[in-house]
Amino acid sequence: MTKKGYFGPYGGRYVPETLFPALEELDRAYEAIRADGDFQEELKVLLNKYSGRPTALYHAERLSDSLGIKVYLKREDLNHTGAHKINNALGQALIARRLGKNRIIAETGAGQHGVASATAAARFGMECTVFMGEVDIARQRMNVDRMRLLGAQVVPVSSGNKTLKDATNEAIRHWVAHVEDCHYIIGSVVGPHPYPSMVRDFQRVIGDEVKEQIMAEEGRLPDALVACVGGGSNAMGIFYPFVDDAVRMIGVEAAGHGIETGEHAVTLSGGRVGVLHGSRSYLLQTDDGQVIEPYSLSAGLDYPGVGPQHSFFKDTGRVEYVSVTDDQAVAAYGKLCSLEGIIPALESSHALAHLEVMARDGRDSLVVVNLSGRGDKDMDSVRPFLLGEDKR
Ligand SMILES: *Cc1c(COP(=O)(O)O)cnc(C)c1O
Repeated sequence: MTKKGYFGPYGGRYVPETLFPALEELDRAYEAIRADGDFQEELKVLLNKYSGRPTALYHAERLSDSLGIKVYLKREDLNHTGAHKINNALGQALIARRLGKNRIIAETGAGQHGVASATAAARFGMECTVFMGEVDIARQRMNVDRMRLLGAQVVPVSSGNKTLKDATNEAIRHWVAHVEDCHYIIGSVVGPHPYPSMVRDFQRVIGDEVKEQIMAEEGRLPDALVACVGGGSNAMGIFYPFVDDAVRMIGVEAAGHGIETGEHAVTLSGGRVGVLHGSRSYLLQTDDGQVIEPYSLSAGLDYPGVGPQHSFFKDTGRVEYVSVTDDQAVAAYGKLCSLEGIIPALESSHALAHLEVMARDGRDSLVVVNLSGRGDKDMDSVRPFLLGEDKR
């Protein structure tokens, strides 16, 4: 057993002293709700009636035929707001209410987590402030409009590279100053303890459902699970319930323009251990310890860190981590559209693209892919590639 809040040498709580009481309070609340039937029931009703769970496990027949392996898609794209992030946002909003906090803050890059947090805040009548880099605000107009429509205040962040890392720094600073009445909803399995464990437990509903659904369909567990890895929450959510089973697990990171170009987001395959946003994990950094700005066409995958439990799974070998370039992801995006009539998120398209490798190596015949979100949001990014327009 490793220390509480750690996964092997990863995780921990590298935060200013002023945040310790809030993290302790959150940890106690998180421990309490795990065993609290009323809380779990309330969350379950919310997920089912509000977000539309359980999401379907769909046998993608035409995709399977084209690959020569049997592929099921876990349809997280069918959730309210279009991705898995709502599972966590609703769970944390419920915890905030328990703690008597009626203000939510969140950070966002592409805006997906901001939208999920703003949605949960509206549902519970809470105030919501979302920190977002100025560059991202300019790139993601539609999600900024959605958040404002949902009643959230979007605060532009102009420090650093004006993207997700800087928005997260700003959210942490704001939290330090307003910790009494404020709950910080972190959007992935990252950050200081208890966030990586708590977010994992709010996302494991994905894997728990898959286990039941695949047993009902196939009478056995799959050979392999595949999911994309940004911060790592949709991957952890589908993997975690299978950790003790004989099932291969593959996490797919974004190789952007190619690892050799230096323009990528392959934290686990190409990073080194360091501390970012309150926990110790693999990290994209220079020899001097400066964080390297990641790149991916997919906005949800370009985060320079990764959840500490993934770092642990990498070292132990329990999960294999691979990577897929922008071009491969875009090809998989187009393929799912034309073969199945499903527009996948560019993030999820990274997981789909890896199926081509799996089909060639022939090790697995029954595979479940986590389709973490829907891809209408990515039209502007894929238009130059798939619809033959000039890059703009
Ligand atoms: C945010 C996002 C991701 C990446 O986040 P994880 O924490 O790695 O899951 C993946 N897919 C979609 C659709 C997202 O919105």
